[in-house]
Parts: sequence; C-alpha cells; structure tokens
Amino acid sequence: MLAFLWLVVVLFGALVLAYRNASGIAWSAAIAAALAIAGGTELLPGWLTLALGAVFVLLAIPMNVPALRRALVSDALLGAFRRSMPPMSQTEREAIEAGTVWWDGELFSGKPDWRKLLGTPRPTLTAEEQHFLDHEVAALCALVTDWETTNVYRDLPPHAWQFLKDKGFFGMIIPKEYGGLGFSGYAHSQVITKLSTRCGTVAVTAMVPNSLGPGELLLHYGTDEQKRHYLPRLAKGLEIPCFALTNPNAGSDAAAIPDYGVVCWGEHEGSRVLGLRVTWDKRYITLGPVATLLGLAFRAYDPQRLVGDKEDLGITCALIPTSHRGVEIGRRHIPLNAVFQNGPNWGRDVFIPMDWVIGGQAMLGKGWRMLMECLAAGRGISLPASNTGMAKLAVRAVGAYARVRQQFKTPIGRFEGVEEALTRMGGNLYLMDAARMLTAAAVDCGEKPAVVSAIAKYHLTERGRQVINDGMDVIGGKGICMGPSNFLGSAYMQHPVAITVEGANILTRSLIIFGQGAIRCHPYVLKEIAATREPDRTKASVDFDAALFGHVRFIVANFARTLVMGLTGSHFVGVPTDVAPQTRRYYQQLTRFSAALAFLADVSMGTLGGALKRKEKLSARLGDILSLLYLCSATLKRFEADGRPQEDAPLMHWAIWDAMFKAQNAFEGVISNFPNRFIAALMRRVVFPLGRPYQVPSDQLGHEVARLLLEPSATRDRLTADMYLSPCADDPVALADRALVAALAAEPVEAKLRTAMRDGRLDAKLPPGAGLDELVTRAQAAGVLTGAEGSALLAARDLTATVIRVDDFSQDLGASEMRLSTPGPSAVASAVVHKVAA
Ligand SMILES: Cc1cc2nc3c(=O)[nH]c(=O)nc-3n(C[C@H](O)[C@H](O)[C@H](O)COP(=O)(O)OP(=O)(O)OC[C@H]3O[C@@H](n4cnc5c(N)ncnc54)[C@H](O)[C@@H]3O)c2cc1C
Repeated sequence: MLAFLWLVVVLFGALVLAYRNASGIAWSAAIAAALAIAGGTELLPGWLTLALGAVFVLLAIPMNVPALRRALVSDALLGAFRRSMPPMSQTEREAIEAGTVWWDGELFSGKPDWRKLLGTPRPTLTAEEQHFLDHEVAALCALVTDWETTNVYRDLPPHAWQFLKDKGFFGMIIPKEYGGLGFSGYAHSQVITKLSTRCGTVAVTAMVPNSLGPGELLLHYGTDEQKRHYLPRLAKGLEIPCFALTNPNAGSDAAAIPDYGVVCWGEHEGSRVLGLRVTWDKRYITLGPVATLLGLAFRAYDPQRLVGDKEDLGITCALIPTSHRGVEIGRRHIPLNAVFQNGPNWGRDVFIPMDWVIGGQAMLGKGWRMLMECLAAGRGISLPASNTGMAKLAVRAVGAYARVRQQFKTPIGRFEGVEEALTRMGGNLYLMDAARMLTAAAVDCGEKPAVVSAIAKYHLTERGRQVINDGMDVIGGKGICMGPSNFLGSAYMQHPVAITVEGANILTRSLIIFGQGAIRCHPYVLKEIAATREPDRTKASVDFDAALFGHVRFIVANFARTLVMGLTGSHFVGVPTDVAPQTRRYYQQLTRFSAALAFLADVSMGTLGGALKRKEKLSARLGDILSLLYLCSATLKRFEADGRPQEDAPLMHWAIWDAMFKAQNAFEGVISNFPNRFIAALMRRVVFPLGRPYQVPSDQLGHEVARLLLEPSATRDRLTADMYLSPCADDPVALADRALVAALAAEPVEAKLRTAMRDGRLDAKLPPGAGLDELVTRAQAAGVLTGAEGSALLAARDLTATVIRVDDFSQDLGASEMRLSTPGPSAVASAVVHKVAA
C-alpha cells in the first residue's frame, strides 16, 4: 500500500515538474529524493532501488553536464538532423525569416502572458489624423458613388483622382520630411476602412500606393538620392506608382518569376553606364495602366561577373519610369467588374541604369527579402481594413433593411432563420474590427508581424466574405438587382479580389500561417535549424544542444499542461486579476488551447517531419487553431479597451464561443486525420481527456446579437464606427438608416391601430384600392391617432417603400442612360469639398 502511495506521489510530482517546465537539475533532485525515500523506507525491494539508482546516475550525470551531453547525445542528433533536413531554398529561408514574432509567439508558447496583450496600447489617431478622417476622407467619399464610378466613369471620376493627389492620399505612409502625411499604420487602416464603406474602387486606388510598392520599398531600402527624388513626388501624386511582381507563369509561386535582367554596360542619357537589360511580362498589375512609375521585380543575372562572382544574383526590385523607352503598358483587365485600374505590362531587353535598382547595386538580388519584409507589415493593414469597411457597410445597411422589410406581417429580421445570418454578421464584424485594430497597433509598435499579418489577411477576408454573403441572403432580390440603390451588390461581386491578392487565401491558409508560424513562433525550431547551418562546429554543437534540450522540456511541459488543463477544465489557470470577470474563463480556456496547440504542433512536426509541408490539410487546421487563438485574443483585448460596455457583451461572447468551437473542430480535424493512428489516439486522450467541451454559441446569445443590428443604439454605432454616412437624401445606406428610425417610431402607432381595430373603435374594412392613407384618415377622425402619429406611420411606409425599391433600366439595360449625370461632384459633395478646401 505504501509503495502504491509512493508511486502516486512520484507520478503526481512528475506531472507538477513537467507542468512547470522544471530544469534538468530540479528533475534530477526530485528523482534522487524519491529514490532515497524508497531506499531509506524499504518501500521497494533493495535490488530494484539499486537498479533504478544506477540507471538514474547513468542518465543524470550526462544530462546535467552539457559537455558530456553534447558528446553523447546532441552531436549525434545534430549530424542526423543535418543529413535529414529537407533542403531549404534561399527564397524559402528569406520568407520564413522575414518580419518579427509578436503575440503569435506567446500563443505558440503554451503559456501566453496575457498581461503583454492587455498592455499593448490601444491605437489612437493624432488630432491631425482624426481631422483628415473627418474632413478629407469624408469629402472624398462624398465625391464618389460605387455605382457611378463603376458604371458611368468605368474608373474613378477625374475630380476624385485629382482630390486623391491634391490631398496627399498617395503619401499617407511617406514621412513628413519627404512631403507625405506621415500617418501611423492605424490611421492608414482607418482611412481605408472608411473609404471601403463607400466605394471599393476609391479604397483600392488609395490603398495600393500605401501598401507593398515603390513608396514602402523606397522608404526602407532606397538610396538617399532615390528617396529625395521620388518620395516627395509620390507624396504629392506627381507620380502614380504600381508594383509588378506577378507573371502569367508565376502567380502564387512568385519567387519563380521568369522575368530577368542581365547585368551589362549600356547607354543611358548619352553616357555609358553599368545597368541591366531587363525582359518581363506582368499581368494583373493594379494602377499599372495609369502608372508613371513602375516598380518591377525580376531575377538578376551576372553572366559576365561584372558586379561579383555569382551568376544568379536573385530577385531584384527596380523603379522604372513608364515613359522609359521599351516599357509597354497594356490594356485594362476588368477584375469582376471592379474598375480600379489594373492591367498587364511588359518589356523586352529594356536597358536600365544600375541606380534604378531600389537601394542601388548593393541591393541586387535582395528583392525577395525586401518584399517579404514589407509584406509582413503591409498585409496586416490594407486588406483587413478594406474588408472590415465592407462588413461595416453590410451590417449597418442590412440590419436596417431587415427591420423595415416585412414578410408575413413581420420584420424579416425577427425570423429565426434570418436572425441566424444577422448574428453571424454582427459577431464576425465585432471580431474583425478587433483584429484589424490589434494588428495595426502591433505595426505601430514597430513590429513586422509576418504570421499575424497573414492571419489577419486570410481570416478577415474570409469573414468579410461571410458577412457579405449573409447580407446578400438577408436582403434577397434587393441585393441582386444592380443599380444605384443596391448597397451591397458591388461588394459581393468584387470581394473575391481580396481573396486572391497578397497571397491567395487557400495558399495562405494551407502553407503560410502554420508553415511559417511553426518555425517562426516556435521557441526552439528556428534555433535548431540555425544550428544545423552554423559553420562553426563548436557553436553549432552548443546552440543545438541548448535548443534541443529546451525543446524536449517544452514538449514534456506542454504534454503535462494540456492533460492537466483538460482534466481540470483549466479552472486553476492563473489569469490577470484586472480582466472583466465575465471573460476570466475565456483566458483560461485559451491558455489550455495554446498548450494543446504547442503539443500537437510538436507531435506533428516530430512524427511527420518534412512531410507535414505536403500535408496541407493538417497544416491548415493547425494554422486555424493559431489563427483562432489570435482572433479571440483580439476580441478580448477590444472588449477591455472599449471599457467593457455591457451592451456589447453579446457580440464579444458570441465571437469567442464561435471561435472556440471552431478551434475545437480544428483540433478534432487534425487528430482524426493524423496518419499514425496510435499517435492520434494518444493525442485525443491528452487534448480532450474528458471529451470535447465546447458547443456552438447558444440560440439565445445569437438572438441578443441579432437584436443589436435591428435598432439604432450606441452598440450599433460602435460596431459600424467611422463608416461614411452620406448626407444625401437618396443615398441607399442613409435611406435605410432613416427608414429604420421611422419604422421604430411607427411601431407603437401600429400597435395603437391594431388595438383600436380589435376593440371596434376603428372600422378596418376598407373599400377596394384604399390603403394606409385611408386608414390613417379614419383613425384620426375617430380620435384613435393624433396628426403626428398618422404622419409617422405614413413616413415609415414611404421610406420603407423607397428602401425596398430596386432599380430598373430600359430595354438596352441602360446603355443609353449610362452617361454622366453631372459633370462634376454633386451639390452636396461640392459643399463638403468647398468646406475642406477652405
Ligand atoms: C485584381 C488583382 C489585382 C492584382 N494586383 C497585383 C499587383 O498590383 N501586383 C502584382 O504583382 N500582382 C497583382 N495581382 C496578382 C495576385 O497577387 C495573384 O493573382 C496571386 O498571387 C495569385 O496568383 P494566380 O492568380 O496566378 O493564381 P495561382 O497562383 O494560379 O493560384 C490558383 C489557386 O491555387 C492555390 N495555390 C497555389 N499554390 C498553392 C499551394 N502550394 N498550396 C495550396 N494552394 C495553392 C491558390 O491559393 C489559388 O487558390 C493581382 C491580382 C488580381 C486578380
């Protein structure tokens, strides 16, 4: 019996040591103590104690003496690793090493320090940025409508182009010393979000020069001369930039572009200079058809060894004026009827001087690293912002529509089926905006969060797509018939562009988020890989040994933490004391998922090795878990940063429950498809020792979320904050908003009418053809309604009729009507522009 007790204590002690990631010395001391107790009290037979003691000494000495440990274990493993590691190309390495590790590293640690997240400053705008948002951005929104831009101009209207240039929209990220606006990442994100609530084309046109392209590349890698020449011109809109990477034969696999430049001597402006003879063929290039400055990526070769001793120098980025001889700008693509400028360009044996290479000769071949590093930050701003903007538009307008549109004498938003879609829209938008802001905050803190920005790009575009699809389902035919009064059709049509660009979504989910995350965010894997490449043998041995044994303890710790938290429901996990009490359990459960992810990731990498790269479905699900942990973190952070408003709590709760349920499914997806069934069974026992605990968010919670979309409130305003709300009376979103207010004002009046009819105080039998006007007249005559009440009822009816109206066109589908209705901005827009100019 005592021996059994001893064994229980030993196992419990081992679990505690593992849970706490104890050092080798602590393990050794604990084992020595356990053996001493067993020997001293004769709990175990003497021979067994002696045998265990001998094994312990044989293992403990080498394990605690690093030099011995290296000689006996690590060096042999290092050799085996070196031989078995799949070769990694330079481009692969540069992609993996690009950017920084931030909160994603904590989520991968199995033990996230929530204080770090909560301590991240909430992004704010300076007074100047806020002024720009309230005035210049609002004025630009007033200058355009999606319908007119798309169907009348087939481009941004000329006055909008001019406004963009004059007001510095193309230089938001360019510092003031170069004449730019010098905005933060958050301000950039706010601008794009607001523009996207109005018109996709204007948002993309403003976004591209501020994203990965000439401006960003020059800022980080340009020579002083290049910066002095180009940045002020870009900031003032004197140059329109584009960036051309994609080739017809290399889209997702952009590092494989066949476009090339050969180092050679040539003629430039009357002088013989060193340069490159470049040949390229690019397509899909945004702003390409109107660009004056072409950022071009190609692979540089130096067969004559004019700049060094290598022939293949690698991917290189250069800036070429589109007026340069040999640059061919093609015609326009029409990307899903979006009319932002986009098209092909090409050139054959075009000579460019060396100082057109961004960063000059020294940066030949460094283009891939430059692109990956800039992408690491940029991907986290533009597309998350534009998708959140579109989702805001959908939530505000569709919520209002669902309240005023009645079927079966009931607002459609009150039917449970519609409510389900509205719930998803509200919950997803809350989470999207939270992730958009947190990612922008990271960029403004100086991070280049490569993995986080891939997560933000993928998940915010996917959730944006879900919100828009749900919105389209809710508004039925109203969303399908195109015309100026359709507020969602364009976003629905054009949304796939966001899915495809800056890393197409399937590739981003399957290959990048976990593929890069597992290596970058893991506390030891990158160190192990670096050690295998270290030429100094002693340093390699020391580094590898430290990383390997740290890694082993990390796996053991995460195994123990996952199991213990699974068995205890993570009730005993420490949480910062100052978080909202209703969210405490979420922090505990997310800590549990973090440990389980770290454990599963290590088991997957350890058992599948390089094959995991090809097991994209497993990799995608592991990436989903990491992503969902990030999205939940952002949601919790937002709830705190907003001051924990109780009215918003349903949105927060729904977003977290939905994400945790999805994360649980992703765990299940990995486990049930794991190739090694024995390991799969083991993983299931460790990750879900008492079964799967999370359920879908309850219908009651969903009902509370949907309700928030169906009436004006501070929560609805916070959810759609910084959306452009047009002062124009015929703007479809403004109309829906007004109709919503009118419908709510009319509801008690309708109830009064119903009661009066039921009580027989009002004769509801109307002659054929008579409608609400007649009923109101009768009700007023009978003293059932006041004049104001009658007017409220009729106003609600009229506004609703306008909102549910769809556009129609002549037999030629309006081709003859598609002419400019006004030569310039409308009257309201003129007034706003005038005010801003003043
Ligand atoms: C409107 C628009 C604007 C653009 N603007 C620019 C621009 O300004 N500059 C520029 O250089 N480029 C631009 N692009 C190009 C864009 O970046 C590419 O379209 C994108 O890289 C995908 O390439 P692809 O279209 O050739 O698709 P493909 O590479 O052929 O991919 C097709 C599908 O296969 C998937 N896939 C590919 N490889 C894998 C893999 N290993 N694992 C899993 N799935 C995979 C992709 O996710 C995608 O779903 C633009 C494209 C569009 C449509």
